[in-house]
Amino acid sequence: MTAPAYDPDNIFAKILRGEIPSFKLYEDADTYAFMDIMPRADGHCLVIPKTPCRNVLDASPEQLAAVMKTVQVMAHAVMKAFGAGGVTLQQFNEAVGGQEVFHLHFHILPRHEGVALRPPGKMADMEVLKAQAEQIRAALG
Ligand code: AMP
Repeated sequence: MTAPAYDPDNIFAKILRGEIPSFKLYEDADTYAFMDIMPRADGHCLVIPKTPCRNVLDASPEQLAAVMKTVQVMAHAVMKAFGAGGVTLQQFNEAVGGQEVFHLHFHILPRHEGVALRPPGKMADMEVLKAQAEQIRAALG
């Protein structure tokens, strides 16, 4: 089956162009990391490539490699920032695979023993998110 074309007006493309705000955590030449606004755990963040692709299915090996490198950086940072014992990575492909925003992204979710992920879809308090972003940036050193 042919995948639909990349939509340059998806919300993460708008974030990359600075058209809508985000709580930036980290960037390098190829990737950008920011807070998820509906966090399923404290410190839930997202890593995206700066160049367009919908998901893992149409990403180039170079885009995947760059994103995974930043995923590892952010996994260490959120674990340190929140004293987490581990991280869960989530990544969805196409609507039927659970994807809602069609620009490749990996979710990084810090985890604590016995603490379940919160249900999806609840907007964060922006002041709390801002403070948590500062905590993560500090952990990045
Ligand atoms: P999915 O495509 O299923 O991985 O879900 C998209 C994710 O993007 C969800 O976790 C949303 O909370 C998150 N999200 C949607 N809009 C924004 C935004 N403007 N800033 C940060 N995260 C967002």
